[in-house]
Amino acid sequence: MRTRLSVCARKRRHASEQDAIAAAILANIVLRPYRCERCGQFHLTSRTKGKRPLPGTVVAAPASID
Ligand SMILES: [Zn+2]
Repeated sequence: MRTRLSVCARKRRHASEQDAIAAAILANIVLRPYRCERCGQFHLTSRTKGKRPLPGTVVAAPASID
């Protein structure tokens, strides 16, 4: 994933993936950590398409059950 500089500049940076994961778990929305090519640190994204959720993460929107 290519990160734009403007995105990098306004996002929170996490020094390690573990830090990013911890922050993602604390947030009440589904976030995924990814490594930024710009700063070499980790940011969180709410774009989870095509990515597996974090282990232990509760997905906010429950699937409808027939
Ligand atoms: Zn960055």
